[in-house]
Amino acid sequence: AFNDDEIEVMQAVSQLVSMAMARLRMEQALLEADRRKDEFLATLAHELRNPLAPIRTGLLVLKRTGAQGPNAVRVQEMMERQVDHIVRLVDDLLEVSRIRSGKIELKRERLDLRDLMDQAIEASQQFLDANGVSLTVVRPEEPLMIDGDPVRLVQVIANLLSNAAKYTPSGGHAEIAARRVGSQAELTVADNGVGIPPDMLPHVFDLFAQVDRTLGRAQGGLGIGLALVRKLLRLHGGQVEARSDGPGKGSVFLVRLPLASAFAQGGPQREGGR
Ligand code: ADP
Repeated sequence: AFNDDEIEVMQAVSQLVSMAMARLRMEQALLEADRRKDEFLATLAHELRNPLAPIRTGLLVLKRTGAQGPNAVRVQEMMERQVDHIVRLVDDLLEVSRIRSGKIELKRERLDLRDLMDQAIEASQQFLDANGVSLTVVRPEEPLMIDGDPVRLVQVIANLLSNAAKYTPSGGHAEIAARRVGSQAELTVADNGVGIPPDMLPHVFDLFAQVDRTLGRAQGGLGIGLALVRKLLRLHGGQVEARSDGPGKGSVFLVRLPLASAFAQGGPQREGGR
């Protein structure tokens, strides 16, 4: 047996050890956060740098052959695409700080989810085509009325569509569908692309999450899109969920949004008294 003094010393030592362990864990967490930030900065620099080389080449070509030269229109269009890409990246970055500070304001209106679907498809069609991914649209007969910010919700849907295009090899297929389930509107964007490993499923909505940096590299990306999607849906009282049977098995993103109260029960109705 130990005497009281010995017990006290042992308790003090054990306390010191657990304090040291806690400190070590904290330092490790900080290092990890630091590493993620470094990695993000490297990706960011890379993503911003990539479109600059073709723009510089384009400028050189125009300088040599003149703005009326044989390839001028093609070169200008190429440069336009690259500039658009940079603008999108920078917009995404600006959104990050808005996500973090919670300063996203919604301009709410009564909307039909089917119209938002149409607009998002229109905005994404070219990108889907360019990636060789075909799209099936399952558009319900009945209106799906919700209260929300049209710009933000189109952004959400277009984001999911462009991910489907990005993470599905050429020749692949995507499907967008909407339906009413009880008092909610449900929207799914599915693809038969690269899929998501089970251990990554819970993390794809984290800021700067990227499952495999080699997969989407051709298109680039900063791991901001889905974090923004989740944030925007939460602001609308909605949710988003990712499903996948694993690598190579495709992915499904399921969005739920509350229907506007008049439409929540009883299916399609006339919008009386407005
Ligand atoms: P980014 O596409 O810029 O990397 P996102 O936030 O849009 O960022 O997506 C985060 C990660 O989730 C992606 O890097 C990718 O690994 C994974 N992901 C997103 N959508 C899909 C999809 N449709 N199929 C497979 N993986 C996806």
